Amino acid sequence: MSVRLKKGVYEKLLIEQDYKCFYCGAPETTKNRFEIDHIVPKKHGGKNSESNYVIACRLCNIQKSDKSVSVWLKEVQNKGDEHFHKSQRFHKIAKNIKTKLKVKIIC
Ligand SMILES: [Zn+2]
Repeated sequence: MSVRLKKGVYEKLLIEQDYKCFYCGAPETTKNRFEIDHIVPKKHGGKNSESNYVIACRLCNIQKSDKSVSVWLKEVQNKGDEHFHKSQRFHKIAKNIKTKLKVKIIC
């Protein structure tokens, strides 16, 4: 999903996230570009607001799609991908979501 951001918002998010994917912590590469993701998908009532935006790598964004964070995490837990060993990626993503959103992840 493409999102139009106000000027400076993308840069602000990048700095906040230390130039890393919000979910897996990977840096941007030419093969794995950064995109804007709605943490809470619009389908699930998420808002088009700055607090609901994060920068995610393309790989995470495609896989997460419009799933809720908890549903997607379950998926990550069960499937590996080419960038990370599956348990390593899962732990990174779960940790990042927990610390940044302060949500309790039940898995
Ligand atoms: Zn990622």
